[in-house]
Parts: sequence; C-alpha cells; structure tokens
Amino acid sequence: MSLKPGQIKAIIFDLDDTLYDCSGTLVLKSKKLAAKIISKAIKCSETEALNLQLKLEERFGPKADIFREIANSYNLPEEFHKEISNVINTLEVESAILFPDVINSINELKRIGYKLFLVTVGSREMQERKIKILGLERSFNEIIITDNSLGKEKSFKEILIKHDLEPEHVLCVGDKIKDEIEVGKKLGMFTALMKHGRHYNFYKSKTNAKVPDMHINNISDLLNKLSI
Ligand SMILES: [Mg+2]
Repeated sequence: MSLKPGQIKAIIFDLDDTLYDCSGTLVLKSKKLAAKIISKAIKCSETEALNLQLKLEERFGPKADIFREIANSYNLPEEFHKEISNVINTLEVESAILFPDVINSINELKRIGYKLFLVTVGSREMQERKIKILGLERSFNEIIITDNSLGKEKSFKEILIKHDLEPEHVLCVGDKIKDEIEVGKKLGMFTALMKHGRHYNFYKSKTNAKVPDMHINNISDLLNKLSI
C-alpha cells in the first residue's frame, strides 16, 4: 500500500515496546525475580535460571507460559507456578521510562494535527500505572486498555466509529506482527512495525505475508515518513 500526501489523519500507538523499552526493563526485571524462585526450586544458580528462561522464550516465543514449561519439565508443584505468577503480577513498574524521542515526537504529531490514540493490552491496573508513570495521561485523544490481545481489533474498530475515521486514513504503530500489524492491515489501515523488543525479535524471522507498510526504529521516524 503506498501512502498519498496527507492521507494519514490519525495514528494508533501501542504502548509496551513501542513507546518504552518493556522487554529490556520490566520483562528482564521480572525474569530476574523469577530466577530467584526457579534457582531454589530446581537447585541451580540464578544466572542459570535466567538463562533457562531466555532459552525457553527463544524456543517457544514470547507469549508462551515458560514457567509452566519449567514446572512440567522439573515436576514442580502448582505452588511454584503460583509463587512466580504472584511475583510477576506485583512487579513494580516505576522504572519504566519512555524512549527519549517519544514526548517530542508525540507533541509534534499533535501540533501537525494528527489525532492520536493509545491502545494497550494488559491488566487495567498495571497499564494505568504505566501510563501515569510515563506521563502519557494527556497525550492522546483517547486511551483504550483491553485485557486480551483479541481486544485490539475491537478497540481499533471502536476508534474508527467513534472518531469517524476511514481505516485508510489511520496508521497503526506497534511491535507485534500478529496483534497489531495483521489486525491493522485486516481492517485496511496503514501499518508501521516498531523494530524493538522480544516480540519483534521473535517474529522477524518468521515468514509472514502480512508485512508492515513501514518499519521504524524510533517514533520520531514517523515525522519524516509521514511528511510527504
Ligand atoms: Mg507492544
């Protein structure tokens, strides 16, 4: 799909690994906390326990329940899985910081006149805390939090209807080929894949017909790519 001048009127952003480094900060931190529990359960060092998680994620992908895999392989009781889930679900998100160019880029896109939206998947409480910590509460025309990845499509459709937008006037930006690029394309939107994080790294090697319309390394790349 080629972009005509002035075609894009609205941009829908993803949050995790699109506007801040979720894989390198929060996810890594949660894996380090989990490594403490795993190392005790299977009698290995914390470094080995961290490497085991990374290896399993590389093999089964970022969406797999690797703690379930570990529990099954080592015959660990249900309490092990529960203990790890508790640690991960109570993870402090205070260390999250936006990629350095995000605020200026968003402000500039807004100044130019784009309608901006944020659609993110996760527990409402956790995603709301992240949005607050990252200072994004007032950065978008609308923020939608959905608790399962299927909710992205529903949210995208809601935005089109509520804001009276045609899909060909919307750019969908995210790091996930399956949940963001494929869904955006299915609805007829223009798509940009953020080349960052564990989802991007896992799926980039997979052959996929639904390639994004553009690849970006930074949110500020949009300013150049859209100014045609
Ligand atoms: Mg993401």
